[in-house]
Amino acid sequence: MSSIIFGPVYSRRFGKSLGIDLSPSRKQCNFDCLYCELEPANTMDHYEDVISVYEVMEALKKALKEHPDVDFITLTANGEPTLYPHLSELIDAIDQIKGEIKTLILSNAGTIDDPKVQETLLKLDEVKLSLDCATQSCLKKLDRAHPGIDVEKIKAGMLAFKSKYHGPLVVEILVVKTLNDRPEEIARLNEYLLKLQPTRIDLGTIDRPPAYDVKPVSYEELLAVSKLFDASLPLYIVSRKKSEVRASSYTDQEIVETLAMRPLSPDDIEVLFDNESQKRVEKLIKEGKLQVIESNGVKFYKNA
Ligand code: SF4
Repeated sequence: MSSIIFGPVYSRRFGKSLGIDLSPSRKQCNFDCLYCELEPANTMDHYEDVISVYEVMEALKKALKEHPDVDFITLTANGEPTLYPHLSELIDAIDQIKGEIKTLILSNAGTIDDPKVQETLLKLDEVKLSLDCATQSCLKKLDRAHPGIDVEKIKAGMLAFKSKYHGPLVVEILVVKTLNDRPEEIARLNEYLLKLQPTRIDLGTIDRPPAYDVKPVSYEELLAVSKLFDASLPLYIVSRKKSEVRASSYTDQEIVETLAMRPLSPDDIEVLFDNESQKRVEKLIKEGKLQVIESNGVKFYKNA
């Protein structure tokens, strides 16, 4: 059994976060994604090994004594955290002790059509839901969801949740080579995300050894995929593969054209633009031709 609490881990998007693993004994998930960093496992629609709220709270209180300065308490699992049967009660208990610390869940969204799950997640300060596919055939092939999980129900569930939720809702899309990087699949995702209007979309690819033989896309391919989405969507490219990219020189016009197609984060600007081009970006901001906007803690450069 691994430990219930892990971290703190640091990220640009969520600051300093303490993680809670609601399934420390083994993988318990309603998906068996081809890219999962855990071993392949049969899917399930409820936890078989259940830890108590008391155990979680004792471990959390101890960790918070050591790390009182965290920004987030993140509910996650070796599997899917919304399958934890005491989630609502646990969030209430965390709320009693968390003070200014925010709560966040990382869910695969496979249960979001369940009104009870929606009610529970409404109590959180921030929610991150995965959506790799907008079609059932893709969900079946890539995320290998438990029988009965339907992508149309997931999409309807997310819309219903978003209509009630006032906190930031982040959607995560993990792009896998030849599986969900086809323009037709991205077009369906784009169409849906324009309706959903999440606070931010994190677009990433595989960066840890996957359970099955599937391949990541390169940073350039991820960037190409990002350009298939509507430029109004707040899309953030998350990729450790950025380090493999060589920065290039861009003219003023090329910078403006590039950012018209897709607003970019400072990370992307650093990776793609050489030093001279980065200075041009600053100049274009001063001239009012570009602007910097902030979306849920992430800055974006875009056309004015
Ligand atoms: S949802 Fe997460 S834990 Fe479950 S199979 Fe997919 S990647 Fe693994």
